[in-house]
Amino acid sequence: MTTQVSHLFEQLKAHYDEIVAIRRHLHKYPELSFEETNTSRFIAEQLRNLGVAVRERVGGNGVLGFIKGKNPGKTIGLRADFDALPIQEENDHEYVSTNPGVMHACGHDGHTASLLGVAKVLQENRHLLHGNVVLIHQHAEEKPPGGAKFMIEDGALDGVDYVFGAHLATELPIGTVASRKGAMMASVDHFKIKIFGSGGHGAKPHETLDSITVGSRLVTHLQQIVSRRVSPIEPAVVTVGKFHAGNAFNIIADTAEIEGTVRALNKEVREKIEQEIRALLEGMKIADHVDYELDYLHGYPVLVNHADEVELIERLVKENMPEVVYETKEPELGAEDFAYFLEHRPGAYFKVGARNDDPATHFPHHHPKFNFDEKALLIIGQVFLGIVEHYLMERGHE
Ligand code: MN
Repeated sequence: MTTQVSHLFEQLKAHYDEIVAIRRHLHKYPELSFEETNTSRFIAEQLRNLGVAVRERVGGNGVLGFIKGKNPGKTIGLRADFDALPIQEENDHEYVSTNPGVMHACGHDGHTASLLGVAKVLQENRHLLHGNVVLIHQHAEEKPPGGAKFMIEDGALDGVDYVFGAHLATELPIGTVASRKGAMMASVDHFKIKIFGSGGHGAKPHETLDSITVGSRLVTHLQQIVSRRVSPIEPAVVTVGKFHAGNAFNIIADTAEIEGTVRALNKEVREKIEQEIRALLEGMKIADHVDYELDYLHGYPVLVNHADEVELIERLVKENMPEVVYETKEPELGAEDFAYFLEHRPGAYFKVGARNDDPATHFPHHHPKFNFDEKALLIIGQVFLGIVEHYLMERGHE
């Protein structure tokens, strides 16, 4: 264990009450993805109060904070997202959302508060840094196309050598840090299909092109992409979540609308599924004599962690955090736009356990009663500080 990082962590712990106060303030005033103007302004103001140089309106509502070390060296990007969800909160604690129908139900309030705590400690210790830290406060993680892409296009990663991001996880107990090398979260795409047949009398189907029978067969065929076109060793999902057609029991419906989601843990599988969907539609057009329209929306890419940076996190937890357990995380088919940062720079994304014995911390993310153990904010902060110490500080014991 190095003396400086524990020194930094002691300072972070001393700011715990402030971190919690910031988190609760954000929780009380949540804003939806791409509408987070007040949150964005609040973060910029917090950073300015610390004396941190700020760039606002980065790719939208994004905010960058720049901590300049005394000595030259690498630049580390630390990212926290800050948007909320369209959910009516059902908690009754004193910091319950005051914005009807909007709630921080994923913990992004916590990510932001934790990173602001880290900012305070690093700014106070910038004379010890050989290099710089960019605080990447990202808007709109919850809603594709997401804020990450636009922040990167607007220069959020300029000069950044490595990038790291964290997420609270109520499915993991407090005192756990989890990550994995390679693919950890899925790509997500959204398809919208319109089938144009030709309506008519239910008693004369041969004079029509029945969009319901054609659409039903299409849904069945879509289900066979994963089972018959993708290797059984590759995780993938094609889900049809919407099928709308028809108005009356005895009228053949001329159009059908089908929507669904595609998830994969591998870029090639993702591309293959899209090609197979396109091929099925072309086949349908010939075999069923219908026309169609396809709107294929590409969401977040596969989140692929870089091996060396995951090893760093694992080592930091094992060497510096005796009360925390490192776990190799199973991949999941949820998606996260931190994936874009990892397409551009080496780095890693990790999850931090946030459930304790209190049942109030046992709700899943995006639940109207979601809440978490705020001590987890110190664990996110401790990992972030350890990362900065690793790249930018002389080891205390050397
Ligand atoms: Mn989230």
